[in-house]
Amino acid sequence: DELISQIAAGEVVERPASVVRELVDNALDAGASEVGIKLLAGGVRSVVVEDNGCGIVEGDLPLALRRHATSKIASLPDLESVSTMGFRGEALAAIASVADVSVLSRTAEAAHAWRLDARSGELAPAARGVGTSVEVRELFFNTPARRKFLKTDATELAHCVEAVRRHALARPDVSFAVWHEGKLVEQWRRGTPEQRVKDVLGDDFVGQSRAVEARVGPVTITGRAGTPDAARARADQQYCYVNGRYVRDKLLAHGVRSAYEDVLHGGRQPTYVLFVEIPPDRVDVNVHPTKIEVRFRESREVHQAVRHAVDAALAASRA
Ligand code: ADP
Ligand code: MG
Repeated sequence: DELISQIAAGEVVERPASVVRELVDNALDAGASEVGIKLLAGGVRSVVVEDNGCGIVEGDLPLALRRHATSKIASLPDLESVSTMGFRGEALAAIASVADVSVLSRTAEAAHAWRLDARSGELAPAARGVGTSVEVRELFFNTPARRKFLKTDATELAHCVEAVRRHALARPDVSFAVWHEGKLVEQWRRGTPEQRVKDVLGDDFVGQSRAVEARVGPVTITGRAGTPDAARARADQQYCYVNGRYVRDKLLAHGVRSAYEDVLHGGRQPTYVLFVEIPPDRVDVNVHPTKIEVRFRESREVHQAVRHAVDAALAASRA
């Protein structure tokens, strides 16, 4: 089982940023309104994610680290319509197979917190407010071949911050703060969606972008599309979400791209944040363990919807 977990870890955990992504997913699933991410050595030495969510009851702490233990799916049909970020119940088990993990948690009903150390299995009373802190130390300490693939601390830190940024754009109702080596490196306070876009992509982007708001059949698309002024040399500010989940999808990217066909030249890359809402039975989010890829039932329909939505937003800006 340890081996199976390590194999699963290979798919889910590539670098510290993958740990950040999974732990923040869990914090959001737990209903947190504040999430703190504390990193040491780019997250390689340590990633701590703290939240003020619902917490985990003492009896469930060992379960949280067990493979296929999820509190989020009650039955197979649920798999078809998952609304939470997690749902496979493998992230924590996978991470615990390639790092030292401890979970500190307290529910509103508990008199105090409990701390579970995954390696020793020791469960002990501890102190903290309601919520959960998960600490992941020495990633890949037992798989040196994988550890060798990690880049410099600065690069790993940048990936970690980007992982938080992806969550932050989708959840303006949640405050996020990232610390590295004890120093605050990013902070996004809860506010309106407009404010969050401004905070994450910069004040300039608001003036250099147009609101996207379109409904095409069962597909709703909202967000902001950058005007040609906001275009960049690199495709590093292109954010797409499907039903609240960040995705990298060629079909969506191509749909957006085709709307920019006539206004962007010379390989310039548009900047955009787009939220696609689609009935869950028209999209399969269970294609990839990290859930970063999706498969649409009617891909043409989605492609056209995205293209139309961005087209309309850009046309409004020219009028
Ligand atoms: P999944 O998110 O797919 O259910 P995980 O391995 O990520 O699987 O987490 C396992 C379980 O641990 C979750 O289903 C949840 O019950 C619990 N858990 C993990 N992190 C938190 C958290 N921050 N707050 C509350 N519960 C959590
Ligand atoms: Mg999870």
